[in-house]
Amino acid sequence: MLTPNLHYQELHDSYLFARIAEKTAKYCDEHPGTRLLRMGIGDVSQPLCPAVIAALHEAVEDQARAETFHGYLPECGAPFLRETIAAYYGKRGVAVAPDEVFVSSGASDELGHILDLFDTSAAALIPEPAYPAYVDANVMAGRRILHLPTGREQDFLPEPREIPGADLIYLCSPNNPTGAVLDRERLAAWVALANRTGAVILFDAAYEAFIEDDALPHSIFEIEGARTCAIEICSLSKTAGFTGTRLGYTIIPKELVRGGMHLNAMWVRNRTTKSNGVSYILQKGGAAVFTDAGQRQVHETLRIYKNNARVMGETLSRLGIWYTGGKNAPYIWMACPDRFTSWEFFDTLLREVQVVGTPGEGFGKCGEGYFRFSAFGNSADTAEAMHRMEQLLG
Ligand code: PLP
Repeated sequence: MLTPNLHYQELHDSYLFARIAEKTAKYCDEHPGTRLLRMGIGDVSQPLCPAVIAALHEAVEDQARAETFHGYLPECGAPFLRETIAAYYGKRGVAVAPDEVFVSSGASDELGHILDLFDTSAAALIPEPAYPAYVDANVMAGRRILHLPTGREQDFLPEPREIPGADLIYLCSPNNPTGAVLDRERLAAWVALANRTGAVILFDAAYEAFIEDDALPHSIFEIEGARTCAIEICSLSKTAGFTGTRLGYTIIPKELVRGGMHLNAMWVRNRTTKSNGVSYILQKGGAAVFTDAGQRQVHETLRIYKNNARVMGETLSRLGIWYTGGKNAPYIWMACPDRFTSWEFFDTLLREVQVVGTPGEGFGKCGEGYFRFSAFGNSADTAEAMHRMEQLLG
């Protein structure tokens, strides 16, 4: 008889956002007409910018005419977009060749697929609190997970230290859920460690566009030595509102070699086997993000989210509540007041002021006692949610 993948039995049965959805749906059923303010899930609220919309329309028109029609595109990405993304790195002084850029349907898809490159005996080191998909994708693959808890005393930034058996190292900066950002020194220490041990760093840069502080690295490839130990996974979801449109990219340097095998070449083989590429229309839309107009417009939208983060931070400061994040990141990570557990605080906010956030415990055990607010809502809702919370806790 067929044996299914038994590792699925090891997954925790309730995914964080499913439980939040269930609790909020129940509350709404019991309290019809309630206006909930959703500050929890990390989806964006602002539409795609005009430069992207214009490019998408043009690309649709291209597909309507035989002379401009595109069928299958190269599986690893259209040359025009690979070149555009390589040039985006080049502007920051990071040399990336177009054939080191792989266009994807988003970071989440890629974070799952990329694990194909590694043997299932490779253990994954996951600094926590962490984006839940890191753990679940490795559980599904049957990989051993080494949890690396972080805490308030280190501002929720993972300290580089050698952990025996850590073959894959996840780093997410700016971090979801904590909003913490790795500085150059710490990131360089992780790079040195990976080069020493032969580990590969999976660097999730989905929130790089939120970095304002020039001293902080947007890409791991700003760090010397990263080309021999890192893969960078990026997304246009939060940068440019592509959560429902779907586009991302992954950088795999040609110098990245393990066991005599070139990971870039392996990924070419993987993509040409398991994918027929991303739609021409979306890649045209994605390329528009990197034009001068596109960059100006996406940064205008990011300003809305950054302003929301500022409003949240100011509210918490007035309330005397400890928090981190929100400065170079769209997330605020706060200590739950009054010794609430994170789910107790979730229930209290929902019941008393109809504000929905995300309990920290859902991002790993060390997230217990903390709570995440997202800055991706619209400004009016964010201000109203903070006003309600201030009345409740002030
Ligand atoms: N990585 C992190 C850290 C995220 O927070 C998210 C989405 O919230 C993703 C990846 C997934 O991004 P995408 O929409 O490109 O799949």
